Amino acid sequence: MNESKLYCPRGHKEMTIRATEKRVLFRDKQLAVPVEQYVCPECGTEAGTVKQTAVIQKSVADAFRKSAGLLTGKKIVEGRKKLKLSQKDLARKMSVGIASIKRWEGGSIQSKSMDRALRMALSGQNVGDSCTGNRTFAIPRIKLVLKELEALLGKKLLKKNDKMLFAAKYLWYADMITHRETGQSMTGATYAALPLGPQLNNYRDLIEEIMEADTADAEPLNPEEKRVLSRIAMKFPNEQMVYNAAHQEQIRKNRPRGAIIPYTDSADLDAL
Ligand SMILES: [Zn+2]
Repeated sequence: MNESKLYCPRGHKEMTIRATEKRVLFRDKQLAVPVEQYVCPECGTEAGTVKQTAVIQKSVADAFRKSAGLLTGKKIVEGRKKLKLSQKDLARKMSVGIASIKRWEGGSIQSKSMDRALRMALSGQNVGDSCTGNRTFAIPRIKLVLKELEALLGKKLLKKNDKMLFAAKYLWYADMITHRETGQSMTGATYAALPLGPQLNNYRDLIEEIMEADTADAEPLNPEEKRVLSRIAMKFPNEQMVYNAAHQEQIRKNRPRGAIIPYTDSADLDAL
């Protein structure tokens, strides 16, 4: 590593760079992490630069992923390039935001379920139609559906930093009901069973992309889809109502926390 000179804070001479392995306890796992640090040859005091610290954090994350049987950032990049996929392509294939792919490749740790989805996508398989409701995931369509609902409800659903608590529940009903009645979801989005109800999978990484999406890129809503949205708006004129109904749905309660709610469950919706 090419860094500038560093002197020992205890008044000794110039420190030297040493590559070692450090034992680190991270999320209950003992990890051996390769570390490059400055060391004082006289007293052994260690110091790291900001750049070294960032590299170490990434190494810790990758050591953890290796030990937990998860794909490392490097493996994800390699697998993606082998299939000649861009980060955006892989995001589409997995129904996640491009921000997720960037974070996982950059060193963030993916969940076990996302790791499974990554492995499937990188082995060239489709992540599964029961997760996407037989439709290709399309972010502009999410925005189009929310805009249509906003017009019907006369209120804003898409707000910055609101965690999509209500918007995701309207979307979930739109996707589930359309799937139940037409065999295809409206947006291709994947939903997880969370304690507060069904939630758009990886919504944190999607919100910005949804807000910035251009509805002109979305396939227009057909009359049947528009009718479904009208029914949802009539049934749930306010956000608390959609929240309560979605929260109470048995098909959400039946799934373990964080598990995907497959579209094949749409036949058992209670509220609509
Ligand atoms: Zn020293």
